[in-house]
Amino acid sequence: MNTKKLPFSLEEIKEIIKTHPTPFHIYDEAAMRENARKLKAAFTWNKGFKEYFAVKAAPNPVLMKIFKEEGFGADCSSLPELVLAEKVGIKGEDIMFSSNNTPAKEFVKARELNAFINLDDIRHLPFLAKHAGIPETISFRYNPGSLKEGNLIIGHPEEAKYGLTREQLFEAYKQAKEMGIKRFGLHTMVASNELDPAYFPETANILFALVKEITEKIGITIEFVNLGGGIGIPYRPEQKAIEWKAFGDAIKAEYDKIIIGNGLPELKIFLESGRAITGPYGYLVTTVQHLKYTYKNYVGLDASMQNLMRPALYGAYHHITVMGKENQPHTVKYDVTGSLCENNDKFAIDRMLPEIEEGDIVVIHDTGAHGHAMGFNYNAKLRSAELLLRPDRSVMQIRRAETMDDYFATLDFKLIDKV
Ligand SMILES: *Cc1c(COP(=O)(O)O)cnc(C)c1O
Repeated sequence: MNTKKLPFSLEEIKEIIKTHPTPFHIYDEAAMRENARKLKAAFTWNKGFKEYFAVKAAPNPVLMKIFKEEGFGADCSSLPELVLAEKVGIKGEDIMFSSNNTPAKEFVKARELNAFINLDDIRHLPFLAKHAGIPETISFRYNPGSLKEGNLIIGHPEEAKYGLTREQLFEAYKQAKEMGIKRFGLHTMVASNELDPAYFPETANILFALVKEITEKIGITIEFVNLGGGIGIPYRPEQKAIEWKAFGDAIKAEYDKIIIGNGLPELKIFLESGRAITGPYGYLVTTVQHLKYTYKNYVGLDASMQNLMRPALYGAYHHITVMGKENQPHTVKYDVTGSLCENNDKFAIDRMLPEIEEGDIVVIHDTGAHGHAMGFNYNAKLRSAELLLRPDRSVMQIRRAETMDDYFATLDFKLIDKV
């Protein structure tokens, strides 16, 4: 059970709204830092441990800077994400480049930054060599196929487009060694939003056993294992968060058994978690514009799915708090909607909530990862601002809201007269 508490009061949020009109996402810096420190503390037993924050979850340079200060690197998967890391001053081995179906110019940029490159396919090895040269270090993404079950968001590993088969993996390390590559890593990620604590030591077990086999068969040393992201967060109040200490301890048990137990060389543990780093610490703050009573009861917010795609995309649950009515009984069943001409533009369907009035402030929880970042401009809807709630309770706008001019920026209105 988690309490779904908000880091601000009704009075505070009303004060913030005076300068920053809704809708906006607001991130709780103190809570993000505290969580980051807990994660790091859970892996003090592993000398080379590093979390590479998955930039795609919340690609904002201010957030990236905060995580840099907390000792995290950046996990990038595109050219602009690499450039974001560069602008924040994250470089070299503090960048993990984990991409798929990768354009040549992205490999070139990753090499220029001296990032760790994690290849999604065996054929990317000659492709990388041809377009960007041969790096000193290479990592491969393993897809365990039917060895491991997936979950709803990422699907079954055999159906997933990611990674190399087991057979390809051995061949890839052999080829990389022959090309003169000196340092090696191993990566996998086969789950998304996984809340079962047993899942991760099980994945570590598969990877550590693979490290042993690769070391013996290919005669190379694997320097790091990257357990990927996919650590879930409790979107629903009845769900339980993954506890970092227990998470770290469970992976240590596998490490002690397989790596130390077999006298294998020291191995660095890497994570590239996104959701568990920012997800619970972001909130989409909205105002009720309209109420509508037809065959169902509708609450129309001033936000739409361009601000938060997850409910429409995966039927994802996001908890909703009506500010000032936290202790009122949930007596009315509502669909909570945006204003897109798309019937799946709903933040909640058949949700029991306190009776809502126009002007109420409605907060959607757990929007800190894959929230603002997934936004789009369909229906010419503009994306909102992002705010940072600082530890001293002040508020910093870390991204302004889009304007119509932003939306029109790629158009040339002079062409109207040319057709
Ligand atoms: C999306 C992604 C992540 C981050 O996933 P979370 O679920 O946010 O932890 C990490 N690595 C790769 C390769 C990804 O595609």
